[in-house]
Amino acid sequence: ETIGQNFDRTAARVGSSDALVDVASGRRWTYDELRSDVHDLARGLLARGIRRGDRVGIWAPNCPEWTIVQYATAKIGAVLVTINPAYRAHELQYVLGQSGATMLVAVRAHGTSDYASMIDAVRGECTDLAHVVYIGTDDWTDLVAGGASVDIDELDRRSAELGPDDAINIQYTSGTTGFPKGATLSHRNILNNGYFVGELCHYTEADSVCIPVPFYHCFGMVMGNLACTSHGSTMVIPGPSFDPAATLAAVSAERCTSLYGVPTMFIAELAVPDLAQHDLRSLRTGIMAGSPCPTEVMKQVIDVMGMAEVSICYGMTETSPVSLQTRSDDTIEQRVSTVGRVGPHLEVKIVEPVSGETVPRGEPGELCTRGYSVMLGYWDDPEKTAEALDSEHWMHTGDIGTMDDDGYVAITGRIKDMVIRGGENIYPREIEEFLYSHPDILDAQVIGVPDDKYGEELMACVRLREGAAAMTVDDLRAYCDGRIARYKIPRYLRVMDAFPMTVTGKIRKIELREDATRLLG
Ligand code: ATP
Ligand code: MG
Repeated sequence: ETIGQNFDRTAARVGSSDALVDVASGRRWTYDELRSDVHDLARGLLARGIRRGDRVGIWAPNCPEWTIVQYATAKIGAVLVTINPAYRAHELQYVLGQSGATMLVAVRAHGTSDYASMIDAVRGECTDLAHVVYIGTDDWTDLVAGGASVDIDELDRRSAELGPDDAINIQYTSGTTGFPKGATLSHRNILNNGYFVGELCHYTEADSVCIPVPFYHCFGMVMGNLACTSHGSTMVIPGPSFDPAATLAAVSAERCTSLYGVPTMFIAELAVPDLAQHDLRSLRTGIMAGSPCPTEVMKQVIDVMGMAEVSICYGMTETSPVSLQTRSDDTIEQRVSTVGRVGPHLEVKIVEPVSGETVPRGEPGELCTRGYSVMLGYWDDPEKTAEALDSEHWMHTGDIGTMDDDGYVAITGRIKDMVIRGGENIYPREIEEFLYSHPDILDAQVIGVPDDKYGEELMACVRLREGAAAMTVDDLRAYCDGRIARYKIPRYLRVMDAFPMTVTGKIRKIELREDATRLLG
């Protein structure tokens, strides 16, 4: 099945149910209405000459048109290139050029970003780019209206030609560890993944899912949108970009049963001053993914927000994204200390990074995964593809983990974050978990910085709670003394107001390291 077939099947089944709600503008679509808008836009794209395999970029914060473009391109088999709204002109130019996009759909401006002038600045360099269409202007209306010249039979004929293994999407990775890479994904990859996420959360047409995570990333467009449309559930957009209070207000207004986020989003929601004023009783489930979740945050999400069935998912853009997940019958302890077990129809293994041999249960190594979810490859980059995918199509994730006897996997770090101090491998995550126990520490990141004697030394970067007293490195070391092994006690402390983040809400340790190295330099 293709995404278009699956979506049409849902619309035929639950046509009068709510499909999409945009809380900011108050606009809403039933499945019948959404299908009609998707088909109109799909015909508009055909009228402009967009065909199967052509790349169409989208550069916008979360909005209903984003979703409509997602399903319209899938319907005709165009490859949607999802572009991070935090990109600036040179990054835009890179992805448009690298993917060879012939059309770009964008918003003119949002917040402090003037997208139109950045597009103007690079347009001359992007020789493939024939059409730029601005959402919310006559461009959009004209594009849709142009579809009147294409009859519905032609749309059906063209969509019947598509196959599940066609490339449908190029998604760039978060850029947490370096420059983003364009993962090429098929209908089979992402539709299955969305479907199984929906199964994991037991979605039906009675569910409304609050999606504050970005659509440009698979967390939003696959785990959010595709999980909903494959189950007839409602997609709720709380706002164009993440705002903790607006997210809680959307949950309460739309009686959402599920809420998504990376741990830093849940931390922000739990810190909203009038949290208790929001009625969150409709929440039953949700997904936390993207980075490790501190134990305390997990407990509060369950106890304070009422998300008793919340799942932890582990995944990456290259694997559509989910490959490991906790289930609602897992204990809280399992949901706190592991990322659960392998998802349906997938395989995982943990290998010694150099030899590639599978390690014994409980031993750390590189996590590898295989199955329907593994990308076709990095777009137009056979070299990077060969580094990530081996000859048996195992995806080498670059993450370090352990697997216990029952198959539960714990992620203990990234190969790139591992600190080697005097020959000792140190996994910063373990120290970060410990630092959260300090009453004044709100958020902690531990990094390695270059050191003449030990090769690397540890630095703790912390954000303090409001009203906390100043903290010196000696205070911190005294707190650690006797509680964690001596070699794991950070040598340096940096107190910060904010950490450098990716737009997906992940802390860019690479930037923390570069800054710290410069500061110490
Ligand atoms: P880049 O590959 O560009 O450096 P990235 O790896 O952060 O960026 P994504 O594909 O968005 O880009 O994120 C996947 C990564 O997120 C995983 O490889 C893993 O390191 C981390 N991750 C995802 N889910 C979890 C989780 N539940 N717990 C811990 N880490 C997670
Ligand atoms: Mg990655």
